[in-house]
Amino acid sequence: MGKVDPRHLIEAASNGGYAVGAFNMHNPETTEALVLAAEKAHAPVFLQVGRAIVPHLGLRKAYEMTKRIAEESEADYVIHLDHGPWEEVFEAIQLGFDSIMYDGAHLPFEDNIASTRKVVEVAHAFGIPVEAELGKIPDADEEVDWASYYTDVAQAERFVAETGVDFLAISVGIVHGVPLASPQPLDIQRIEEIKAVTGIPLVLHGASGVPEDEVRAATAAGVHKFNADTDLRHAFRSGIEAVWSNGDRQLEEAMAEGRERMVRATVEKMELYGCAGRTAQLGVGA
Ligand SMILES: [Zn+2]
Repeated sequence: MGKVDPRHLIEAASNGGYAVGAFNMHNPETTEALVLAAEKAHAPVFLQVGRAIVPHLGLRKAYEMTKRIAEESEADYVIHLDHGPWEEVFEAIQLGFDSIMYDGAHLPFEDNIASTRKVVEVAHAFGIPVEAELGKIPDADEEVDWASYYTDVAQAERFVAETGVDFLAISVGIVHGVPLASPQPLDIQRIEEIKAVTGIPLVLHGASGVPEDEVRAATAAGVHKFNADTDLRHAFRSGIEAVWSNGDRQLEEAMAEGRERMVRATVEKMELYGCAGRTAQLGVGA
């Protein structure tokens, strides 16, 4: 029990035909919710320091708080930087993150390759695996021409071969957030094709709002890490609202109810992704 090598974790998921959940921390209570869910479901977990928390709390404080809560738990965890820009990934490596995602997807293709390759060189020198992104992931309900957002199969092959990334986040119909309109169906065939040419585990961001059968099909096609945030945030919020709908209460009481509901929502995700009950098979800390 404790810190797990993310490569080992994803390799076990790939061999076992399941996926591991990656969820954002936002404060002590949400971080606790994630590790409590991991303990309860006997599931490994990626504790993600994401895009919103960094300007709010600062990278170091977010990392140290997450680390402390994780270390005091029985969970098998990875502390992961989500969507790190260039400067931030190096700061995260120095701080001791177990895993990083470098996001160069906004760059022209050749620049994304060149900068991702540099990040991989440095991170690997420190023994840290790298997730990168290819293709564009829109925000929920943004008007998009999907053809220009999807990850291109031939580009994915070149990108992985030339950068040496460990995991690849792809765009196949997912969005960040939960769409109000009916969601774009996932392009499962594209996942299979990208998996076939890259040979590495794939990642889907924005997994909130994806129908369960599509989550399972994506896993069978080669996705072994799902990032989900929105559904868990809604669970936390519903707990706070439920307490405050009874009149003014202490913040702690509201946050405790939020935490409890977020634990339940996270356990549901772990069951859906198939990582619940898998900690014993990881053979760590035994
Ligand atoms: Zn993302």
